[in-house]
Amino acid sequence: MSVLSSPSLHNLLGYRCSLCAQEYSPGEVTYTCPKDGGNLDVVLDVAAIRKALGPAGLPVTEDPSLWRYLPLLPVSDPGGLDTPLRAAGGTPTFAPSRLAQTLGLPHLWVKDEGRNPTASFKDRASAVVVARAREIGAEVVITASTGNAGAALAGMAAAVGQRAIILAPRSAPPAKVAQLLVFGAQVILVDGSYDEAFDLTVQASQEFGWYCRNTGYNPFTAEGKKTAAFEVWEWYTCHVASLSCPPIPQRRSLSWGADLSRLALFVSVGDGNIISGLHKGFRDLLELGWIAAPPRLFGVQAEGSAAIANAFFRGQETITPVKANTLADSIAVDLPRDGVRAVRAARQTGGSYLLVSDDEILQALADLGLAGIFAEPAGAAAYAGLKKAVAQGLVTPKDHVLVINTGSGLKDVAAAMRAVPQAPIIEPTLEALRREMR
Ligand SMILES: *Cc1c(COP(=O)(O)O)cnc(C)c1O
Ligand SMILES: [Zn+2]
Repeated sequence: MSVLSSPSLHNLLGYRCSLCAQEYSPGEVTYTCPKDGGNLDVVLDVAAIRKALGPAGLPVTEDPSLWRYLPLLPVSDPGGLDTPLRAAGGTPTFAPSRLAQTLGLPHLWVKDEGRNPTASFKDRASAVVVARAREIGAEVVITASTGNAGAALAGMAAAVGQRAIILAPRSAPPAKVAQLLVFGAQVILVDGSYDEAFDLTVQASQEFGWYCRNTGYNPFTAEGKKTAAFEVWEWYTCHVASLSCPPIPQRRSLSWGADLSRLALFVSVGDGNIISGLHKGFRDLLELGWIAAPPRLFGVQAEGSAAIANAFFRGQETITPVKANTLADSIAVDLPRDGVRAVRAARQTGGSYLLVSDDEILQALADLGLAGIFAEPAGAAAYAGLKKAVAQGLVTPKDHVLVINTGSGLKDVAAAMRAVPQAPIIEPTLEALRREMR
């Protein structure tokens, strides 16, 4: 049956383990591979999608959100019209000319995920997980979070009246905790690390029968995150490669087999689920034949939280935990939960990993600010990684380069204040102002 003629059905065929390749039917498993704990890739009914639509056949709607891609998602329409759930995704891409000049990269863009409803990339995952939760009739959705995943779940759940419980480390930045509370989630702060909150959440979901959203555990998070890859594909083929595409409602000129290999994409990495989700999106497009080659994916980790980059550089997929220490709280992870797929995302696309220090992250935060883009430290890390990649010759002026800012600077104002000099305080007189301006 066609995916489009049957809005109540979707094209979830099942799951495939990323470690042992065992396939499971939709009802057989919920989270990870029962045999080896591997992350599950969602298997879509690609043949049915191909039959139903081509690259120019995505629904022609006024809706710029990620729900445009419903035919490529393993969930059915969650409803919630005119709520923030329908506002996830569809983020803008900017061409920061001053930064382009400074780096000597004439083809530079920044996609600002801080513009999502709860101000981070995590809204993509939480929107799709909430859709799944409604589909399976889950009463409660629980997640562990360093802050953003929880805020996104709380916000998307609040939008449609879904109950949410969030476990965050007590060290989470206050703005993120405020979001959780204001969105009306049941918030519990754990006197421990994100990793400890993660394990507790998994136990609790088993004990109480709650639906668990945890990043790198629930297979639907990557499905939400892959929608950013779809947006990059549309933006690139329309805006960069041909410069001839009309705006979204009329985009009919998308053709088969777009080549994105000249594009280098930079994104920060903690658990590794964003970069894995992006990779999944491009893999879906490859399988559909809508693209011929994906962009190179570059993952950026903090020096103090580099478990995935370490494995990448050792040429391995085995992830050895670290004791995470970085001011970029959103990418501070001892044991990344989606490490294997995150290593592959860079390796299989001809990308790489970059390591950046906290000082370099703060400098990048200030750099992006000069382009009018306010990033939280984890978001700025991607730009810090690009600066390193330029220095190492991994990208050159002929490349097309897209940096993803994963979260808004308003999420962590204390860190932002460390990135810039303090403002002077003067008496309210013209004389004092004149002195100051000298
Ligand atoms: C979660 C997050 C990341 C990292 O994503 P992972 O899937 O954990 O790799 C990066 N930046 C921000 C702002 C985040 O919230
Ligand atoms: Zn397995």
